[in-house]
Amino acid sequence: MSFFKTGFEDYENELLKQDQDQLNAQNKPFTFRVQVNETKEVIILDDTGFRYYEHAFYNQITKQGISITCKDGLGGEECLLCKSQIKPAPILVSTIKDMSGYMDNMGQRKGVGNRLLFKVKRTAAKRLYNERIKIAERRANDLWTKQTEACKAKGCNSVEDVKTQLLKKGGLLKYAKMRISRYGEKSENCGDDFSFVDYVRPEFFKPEDVPFNYEKEFAPLSNQQIIYDLKAFFGNDFPPNLAGLLGSVQAGPIQNGSGIDFQSRTGSVLGTQTHEAPSLSDDDLPF
Ligand SMILES: [Zn+2]
Repeated sequence: MSFFKTGFEDYENELLKQDQDQLNAQNKPFTFRVQVNETKEVIILDDTGFRYYEHAFYNQITKQGISITCKDGLGGEECLLCKSQIKPAPILVSTIKDMSGYMDNMGQRKGVGNRLLFKVKRTAAKRLYNERIKIAERRANDLWTKQTEACKAKGCNSVEDVKTQLLKKGGLLKYAKMRISRYGEKSENCGDDFSFVDYVRPEFFKPEDVPFNYEKEFAPLSNQQIIYDLKAFFGNDFPPNLAGLLGSVQAGPIQNGSGIDFQSRTGSVLGTQTHEAPSLSDDDLPF
């Protein structure tokens, strides 16, 4: 193989490949993933219920995913992807601190304590919602047992009242340590089994352990940018059902890439995390 090439046939693809590498290298937050039959431990950093719609694509060759925020019905440019009959999915987002990390190719554990986006959809979102209610029940029981008088002083006369107060106050997932597993081959990357372990004391966190700016991370892109990103993402393997998009907008120079999610992280095993997060005491009533 020679160090040079001649002809222009593949030149555009080479440039796209370079752009793709640049896009990957940008400091975009990673999205949390669990492999099938894997269990990870995370701490959720916020509980705002931030939601939006996105179109997600997967490249079978590179094993990577790309997500594009849907802008249908927002005014301005119409959503090209909706127009192409591609359905968006509702996404619930929060930020997590990954306590399990992942194994790199050299067998080294990496990424323990990293902040990641936690994107939950469909069935997983329902399960997380149910777990949230269970957390409220468990915490209400605890508070009612240990601090009955204090609860009564706040106008709660039963466990049920405390639970109602907790759900009303919100923020139930903030600083919750969760064990997340994924059993189904076809279930979401975010996992399909969520179980609350305990709350973590606020003192455990570093100043940088704050939620991502979702409005910035998921800001809708121009149609021109979307086409450009999709071309960079799929390269030669552009899916036939999207081919119609290629001619619809002239691809322009890249401004800011949308989030490319990586599939390359391999499994981790519980029990080897290096951070020991202290539990929250019930000294103060949270409402
Ligand atoms: Zn759309």
